[in-house]
Amino acid sequence: MNHAALRQELIDTAMDMNRSGINQGTSGNISVRVDEGFLITPSALPYAVCLPEDIVLMDLEGNSQGCRKPSSEWRFHRDIYRHREEAGAVLHAHPPWCTSLACLGREIPPFHYMIAIAGGASIRCAPYALFGTQALSDLVLEALEDRKACLLANHGMLCLEKDLQQALSLAIEVENLARTYGQALQIGKPQRLGRDEIEQVLQKFRDYRQRTLP
Ligand code: 13P
Ligand code: ZN
Repeated sequence: MNHAALRQELIDTAMDMNRSGINQGTSGNISVRVDEGFLITPSALPYAVCLPEDIVLMDLEGNSQGCRKPSSEWRFHRDIYRHREEAGAVLHAHPPWCTSLACLGREIPPFHYMIAIAGGASIRCAPYALFGTQALSDLVLEALEDRKACLLANHGMLCLEKDLQQALSLAIEVENLARTYGQALQIGKPQRLGRDEIEQVLQKFRDYRQRTLP
């Protein structure tokens, strides 16, 4: 079996995703880029019983290998790898607070400086389309322009990152932002940061990631 370690890491990340509380059951799906295309979680199989050989290898044309059906959302995973060369991993989940906002069709605005973690001044909400469709994938790509995460109306959220671990960290951070925003809305009208303030945060994040002194 090729990519044995990466297949196991995909399963471990899916288990961690559910343990973290940002997803439940067989909802959500995760993939990781490989030379041939990408490895993706199988459709409708509980992560707890998923074995490395159940992980599906797909090429960027959408052809799959093996006996398992790939995640129903393989189209948006495939399209992200096609259009976003920085993407090494893609994670889709149904986190409670992200999904609550997405059910209202609301984006997450620049109410907290950490919004910039997803690449800009907001985390957009892609309009509703049926799960597993090309229409949904097209809307997702648009909502992800200059961003690493978006909400999916009446559905959930997704994010892309360099690798699986960073994708899970980003997803947890986005859910934390959604929860904080949702809680703030219950008390009053959250203050918003301006364009310049977010620009400063983006610049500071670039420096923050350099862990060694110049
Ligand atoms: P899959 O089990 O097919 O990955 O579907 C889960 C999901 O979240 C669909 O949007
Ligand atoms: Zn879903």
